Amino acid sequence: RPRVFSAMQPTADSLHLGNYLGALRQWVALQEDHDAIYSVVDLHALTVSPDPAVLRHRSRLTAAQYLAAGVDPARSLLFLQSHVAQHTQLAWILSCLTGFGEASRMTQFKDKAARQGSEGASVGLFTYPILMAADILLYDTALVPVGEDQRQHLELARDLAQRLNTRVGREVVTVPEASIVRATAKIYDLAEPTAKMSKSGHASGLIELLDDPKVIAKRIRSAVTDADTVIRFDREAKPGVSNLLTIHSALSGTSVADLEAEFAGKMYGHLKVAVADVVVETLAPLRERVTELMAAPDELDAILADGADRARTIAAGTLARVYDAVGLVPPA
Ligand code: ATP
Ligand code: MG
Repeated sequence: RPRVFSAMQPTADSLHLGNYLGALRQWVALQEDHDAIYSVVDLHALTVSPDPAVLRHRSRLTAAQYLAAGVDPARSLLFLQSHVAQHTQLAWILSCLTGFGEASRMTQFKDKAARQGSEGASVGLFTYPILMAADILLYDTALVPVGEDQRQHLELARDLAQRLNTRVGREVVTVPEASIVRATAKIYDLAEPTAKMSKSGHASGLIELLDDPKVIAKRIRSAVTDADTVIRFDREAKPGVSNLLTIHSALSGTSVADLEAEFAGKMYGHLKVAVADVVVETLAPLRERVTELMAAPDELDAILADGADRARTIAAGTLARVYDAVGLVPPA
């Protein structure tokens, strides 16, 4: 069974529909026939200086959303990144293999740093992709299910794996592949449909998994469309309408072409009501399950502790191999 690894940052209370359709839903499907490892990357979330109590709450809440969406701890491994020390240890080795210019080309850093202002961005935000590469390489990951926005970071992880292997002349770590589902690779912000939906984006553009159905319906009703009135998929000319069609199609299983036929001659308002219905219907049971899980924090913590134990065993093996390969003396 090929190894799968993926993760999300606990940078908001709720995950959003982009996280769900771009990644989480794939994670659940992949655990059927893959050896799956899923993490809540709390160390990555530190790059945006969260309040400590808020971070702690969000880390558990994010794990609860994985479970509620169908990640099964009996089949997959689920843990918090900070529970496995090897992530930061491997990140150091990889940072010594990464060129400064190479790291400077990462577009997510440029975008996020620009939003935070020149004094706002931390060195941690800069080295974020190197820690992410460590997350992936520690588990000899074959496949990384992520959204389109992570393609460049994944390319870096591949380059670093290859560089390490080439330097020592043998395969020390597995070179990972991205698994990006084309149709839902990028879900766009409802209020600004040319930007990706982001936890750190504007609230009005988000469909959050844990939102009240009324709020979800209201945000979809207010989604930016265009002055034209035709319901048709055209990413360039009609980004707002195309995004709504993508969301409906991904959740209802109806093809975009069939939706175009179904909504021919109808108004944007009709499409928005239909999208709100299908979103609310999908998310209602998930939201309920999260409430149950958060009411039993000891059980949740036990699942995370068990996941961390198993992850640590794998990670320690890889780290020892890498330490040896780069010339560090093993402890006697
Ligand atoms: P942040 O704004 O804090 O970076 P985020 O919304 O980008 O939050 P991440 O935790 O960085 O979420 O990413 C988790 C996963 O969700 C990744 O696999 C990422 O590719 C995917 N993802 C994030 N946004 C989208 C989107 N708009 N469409 C599809 N997939 C997405
Ligand atoms: Mg992100």
